[in-house]
Amino acid sequence: MAVYRSVTKNRILMGKLDFESDIIEQLTGVCKENNIKLGKVQAIGAVRKAKVGYYDQDTRTYNFMEFDKHLEITSLTGNISLKDGQPIIHAHINLSDENGGVTGGHLAPGTIAFAGEFIIEEYEGEDFSRGLDNDTGLPLWEM
Ligand code: ZN
Repeated sequence: MAVYRSVTKNRILMGKLDFESDIIEQLTGVCKENNIKLGKVQAIGAVRKAKVGYYDQDTRTYNFMEFDKHLEITSLTGNISLKDGQPIIHAHINLSDENGGVTGGHLAPGTIAFAGEFIIEEYEGEDFSRGLDNDTGLPLWEM
C-alpha cells in the first residue's frame, strides 16, 4: 500500500536561471534563500552540457552519463524535501538534440544552463526527510 500525507500549496516562485549556471545549484539556492523545505519544481530551457544518472537496480549504484553538447530541456520535473536537515532537489530531466532525439535521466550536478525558466511550488506540511531505504539502497522519504 502506498504511504502518503496531505500537504497544502503555499507560495509559487517563477524565475529564470543564470546563463551558464549549474541547474541543481541554482534551484537549491532559491529554496535555501526562501526557506522552502517541501515542494515541487519544474523547468524548461536549454543546456550547454548535461550530466544525468541511471540507477542500476542490480548493483545499486548510479551510472552517470555526460553529454558535452547543446540540448533542449523538454522537461525537468522534481520535488523538494529534506536530507540531513537541508533542502534537496530530486529531479529528472528530458533533453532533446538537433534531430529531435531525446535522452534523459536523474538530474546531476554538472548540468549547465544556457537558459531556463523555472516554477517552484512551496508546500506546507510535515517534513519529508530522506533516509536510506533498505529495499532499494536509495535515500527515500522516511514515512
Ligand atoms: Zn532520481
